[in-house]
Amino acid sequence: MAKFILIGSGLAGGLLAAYLGRRGYDVDLYERRTDPREGNIIGGRSINLALSTRGIHALEQLGIADEVLRHAIPMRGRMIHPATAGQAPIFTPYDVDPNKHINSIGRAALNTTVIEAAQRYPNVRVHFNHRCTDVDLDGAVAHLAVSGVEAAVSAANPQVTARGDAVIGVDGAFSAVRQSMQKKLQKFDYDESYLAHGYKELTIPPGPDGSWQMEKNALHIWPRKSFMMIALPNPDGSFTCTLFWEFEGPRSFATTKSDDEVCDFFREEFSDAVPLMPTLLQDFKDNPTGSLVTIRCAPWFYKDKIALVGDAAHAVVPFYGQGMNAAFEDCVVLDECLAQFPDNRKRAFVEYFARRKENADALADLAVQNFIEMRDKTASRAFRAKKKLDHFLEAALPGIYLPLYTMVTFTRIPYATAARRARVQDRIIYGSLAVVVLIAALVMIRLIV
Ligand SMILES: Cc1cc2nc3c(=O)[nH]c(=O)nc-3n(C[C@H](O)[C@H](O)[C@H](O)COP(=O)(O)OP(=O)(O)OC[C@H]3O[C@@H](n4cnc5c(N)ncnc54)[C@H](O)[C@@H]3O)c2cc1C
Repeated sequence: MAKFILIGSGLAGGLLAAYLGRRGYDVDLYERRTDPREGNIIGGRSINLALSTRGIHALEQLGIADEVLRHAIPMRGRMIHPATAGQAPIFTPYDVDPNKHINSIGRAALNTTVIEAAQRYPNVRVHFNHRCTDVDLDGAVAHLAVSGVEAAVSAANPQVTARGDAVIGVDGAFSAVRQSMQKKLQKFDYDESYLAHGYKELTIPPGPDGSWQMEKNALHIWPRKSFMMIALPNPDGSFTCTLFWEFEGPRSFATTKSDDEVCDFFREEFSDAVPLMPTLLQDFKDNPTGSLVTIRCAPWFYKDKIALVGDAAHAVVPFYGQGMNAAFEDCVVLDECLAQFPDNRKRAFVEYFARRKENADALADLAVQNFIEMRDKTASRAFRAKKKLDHFLEAALPGIYLPLYTMVTFTRIPYATAARRARVQDRIIYGSLAVVVLIAALVMIRLIV
């Protein structure tokens, strides 16, 4: 059996190692950080994430979905917090079917679960404190710098090499494997674009009795037109809030520095949340401001030697809650392609890329569009009316009409197909509505004249 070197044991790395281990491949998984089970919280990334149908399906294939979902908190819809102080939040369900929900899960716990799933296979070995510095593409060799305890063991040689039949970069948005492809391949398309907004995580702790201080089964949104805050529930009764705000500008991270400025901003914009955030100032000062990047590249493979999976191939902004779900779907598709072409890994990589690229590009666009929807449109009556119409049509035309959010979140319809289908549906619905309005107007005129 072939040997795979995997770089990065984040969410997709652990899962892919489990998939490859199950197929009987020899797998060495190298991760630059220490073991997450030693309390190594992944700094700079979100503490919790929304897991939905695509991700759950990927976990189910390995029999670990129940284990993950046991710790999840179902979120059945959006709880919109109006800008006007004193106004009650408004709940909009995600789907006409009340059983359809997304799941708030802790990143660290999920990461541990997928790594442990991989380690159940004796042919999978996980090496922490190994940072990939370069990849020899033709040789399928990864060069790694060793740190921590592992460095002490190999003190004479803190650099090691890992040789396999193929190297897979599952090392996130700033992938070292992808950088080696960028440097060494003549034809490698690469594009990165940053939003003008950054993000900062803040906390709403549990109430005195350990319970949630806001509705637990919802994703909370404070839409404020050009920026927003969201909050996802955690199993310990707390919420992790994320403020998405402009880096620069008259009112932005750059201009809001002093304690008074921070407090004034929050009191003005998020008046109902502030009393629930006793550590607001400290969190604001201590927590890093992250950036939001979309990365597109091509190809995601080199011969039968190298492949990219997850954020390494296609980082997207987090506004559809799909980055990890899409990364998990990559693992399913790559596994299927390897099964389809067991003796031709290049063919498997080509097929994997062909099946995923268009969909990753579609998701990247959807994710940016959804930022505008979340931060601006969710506050409006028109948005709520559109959601009601969506749900009415979904119930009236089962299997025929599916809202875009439903297709992306609650089905495994490829992202690009979902986006195309939604455009066609919108044209038909709005076209029909326009015709109805026109006919009604003509009838009225006829009656009056
Ligand atoms: C604020 C925010 C909120 C999000 N919310 C959601 C959500 O609700 N739902 C969702 O589906 N997605 C969400 N995402 C996206 C999600 O976090 C990513 O899509 C997902 O983590 C991608 O998994 P990955 O394994 O490809 O990359 P990562 O999770 O980034 O893992 C990469 C791993 O590689 C390691 N690594 C990096 N470089 C090297 C190296 N040189 N050598 C060795 N190891 C290396 C890293 O330490 C890390 O462990 C969110 C992202 C952000 C920023």
